[in-house]
Amino acid sequence: MLVSAKEMLNKAKAGQYAVGQFNINNLEWTKAVLQAAEEMKSPVILGVSAGAGKYMGGFNTVVGMVNGLLETMDISVPVALHLDHGTYEDCKTCIKVGFSSVMFDGSHYPIEENVAKTTELVGITKGKGMSIEAEVGAIGGEEDGVIGKGECADPEECKAVADLGVTMLAAGIGNIHGKYPENWEGLSFETLDAIQQLTGDMPLVLHGGTGIPDDMIKKAISLGVAKINVNTECQIAFAEATRKYIEEGKDLEGKGFDPRKLLAPGTQAVVDMVKTKIKLFGSEGKAE
Ligand SMILES: [Zn+2]
Repeated sequence: MLVSAKEMLNKAKAGQYAVGQFNINNLEWTKAVLQAAEEMKSPVILGVSAGAGKYMGGFNTVVGMVNGLLETMDISVPVALHLDHGTYEDCKTCIKVGFSSVMFDGSHYPIEENVAKTTELVGITKGKGMSIEAEVGAIGGEEDGVIGKGECADPEECKAVADLGVTMLAAGIGNIHGKYPENWEGLSFETLDAIQQLTGDMPLVLHGGTGIPDDMIKKAISLGVAKINVNTECQIAFAEATRKYIEEGKDLEGKGFDPRKLLAPGTQAVVDMVKTKIKLFGSEGKAE
């Protein structure tokens, strides 16, 4: 059964480790993340972006697929199904169709409107035992033409949004989505420290985990990050393994063209990547 991310993240924050959010793109991805989490005895968050939800046949289809897998794979670790960067409308849809967690990305609204919409969604999700993530300070990405340093959130605004009763808070600390440019200046631990001092027990979320050096990840966890989003790294691992399979001509041998064979190396690469991240984040064995 899907659970809210609240308990797993509060435990992570108190225990100074982080739970990974791994974004899913299809059936293979979902099986891979669940398998890795179960084998590592780690809690896990399955992230679904609006685009991925549409690709998989709608948010309701995703709920059906994930619930089915939890049962047939006999998954015993806590699993949250989380809408990633949701609009106000998508949050409402996901709440209705059975997600256990949503992120309301109101970072592009003026702070007053972000606060009003977040407050409403906090009320609805609380009533349903769901978790809700809010974002302060936009987290850029390649597509936005962000080069160099990502935006840093205002710690006072973080405190104001945390006080609305959200479960976890994403704040820009120089991180960006996708691959980092060569001239990236790194995470701003000064900003992170200031945010944590004002927000106390609130689990903080680090987006754009791909390409952040391991020592920076560990330092961020020590300063209150309890949820780390991983997406691009799994995609690259999947593509590399699939490319290797085809370049070696394996699809031309026997029934190597069977999608169950063709997609197997990429799926295994996702399993391996998720396990590597679970180890790095320190959540291995925390579901026991
Ligand atoms: Zn993000």
